[in-house]
Amino acid sequence: LLAAVIHGPKDVRLEEIKKPQPEDEEVLIRVNAAGICGSDIHIWKGNLEVHYPLVPGHECCGHVVQVSERDTTLKEGDRVVIQPNFGCTSCYLCRMGKDNLCPSKVRLGVDIDGCFAEYVKAPARYVWPIPDEISDQQGAMVEPLAVAVRAVRKMGNPLGKRVLLLGGGPIGLLTLQLAKQTGAAVILADLVEERLALGRKLGAREVLDVNKCDLAKRVMWLTKGEGIDVVIEAAGATQTIELAIEVVRPGGMIVLVGLPHGTVRIPPTRIVRKEIEIQGSIIYSYDDFRQSIWLIREGMIDVDSLITHKFPLKEIGKAFDVLTTARKGIKVIVKP
Ligand SMILES: [Zn+2]
Ligand SMILES: [Zn+2]
Repeated sequence: LLAAVIHGPKDVRLEEIKKPQPEDEEVLIRVNAAGICGSDIHIWKGNLEVHYPLVPGHECCGHVVQVSERDTTLKEGDRVVIQPNFGCTSCYLCRMGKDNLCPSKVRLGVDIDGCFAEYVKAPARYVWPIPDEISDQQGAMVEPLAVAVRAVRKMGNPLGKRVLLLGGGPIGLLTLQLAKQTGAAVILADLVEERLALGRKLGAREVLDVNKCDLAKRVMWLTKGEGIDVVIEAAGATQTIELAIEVVRPGGMIVLVGLPHGTVRIPPTRIVRKEIEIQGSIIYSYDDFRQSIWLIREGMIDVDSLITHKFPLKEIGKAFDVLTTARKGIKVIVKP
C-alpha cells in the first residue's frame, strides 16, 4: 500500500509499505481524506523529534475495513474520524478523564505511523463514527476544530467579551468562528493577507495586519484604552505572548493554544498587578471531539472555506511546498 514516508528532514518519499495489522481492540481504516497540520510540517522540516522512517498525518477521515472480533461498536463500512492521541487508559490522568494530559499518550503520525497512507490503524476507543452529512474533507477538519473547541471552552463564557485572536491559521480561524458564535467580538491579528481576508469573511469584528500597524497601540485604541478581555494565542510565537500581557485588561485572561518554540521573559509583577489568568489548552477531550463532530454536522462552523488546496497523496511533496516555500494556503487536504 502506498504511503508518504519521511526518512529525515525534508526527505519525504512515496513508498509501498506493509498494510498495518490491527491487533486486539484496533480497527483498520481506509483513509479518504487527511489534513496537513503544522506539526506535520515540523516533522517534515525536522523540528520535531521523531523516529524515522515515519508516516506523518493525524487529521483523518476514512471508513472502517476491518474490526477486531471483540469490538461491537464499529463495523466494516462505517465512515469514521480518528481522535489521534491515544491515552494509555491506566495512568492517574487517564483515569481522571484527562487523557489529553497522559504522559505516555501515543500520538498518531508522530509516535506511530499516521494517515498519509492508504490505510491506517487506530484503537477502536479513539475512532468516532460520523454521519453522512459530514463529507470526507469536513471529516478531516474535526480534529483541528476540536482543538479550537477546547481553547474556546477554556476562556469561560465568551458572551459579550472582547477577544484578541493572535494567529489566523486553521486553529485560529476555527476559534474565531466559535468565539463569535458564542457571543464574543473578535479582533484577528495575523501577518498574512489571505488569512485576514478570510477572517473578515468568517466574522472577525476587526482584522489587523501585524506588518502594517503597531498592534498594541491599535488594540488599545480599539478598546478605548480598556484592553482585551481574553487574548487567544494561536500563532505559536513567543513575541505574541509578551504582547498579550500588554493588551489584556486587568482581570483578563490569556489562553495559550499555539506551541511556540523558545522561551518568554515575563515580568511576574505585571501578571500579579493585573491579576492576569494564563491558561494553557492542549488538544482535546472526548467531549471536545464529540462537540466538534456535532458542530460540523449542524453546519454551525464553516470548515470548507478553510480548505484552500487538495492534492492526491502522490503529490504530497507539492502539498508541503504550498504551506512552506510558497507560504500559501490555509488547510491543505491530501486524498490517498
Ligand atoms: Zn492537527
Ligand atoms: Zn495515561
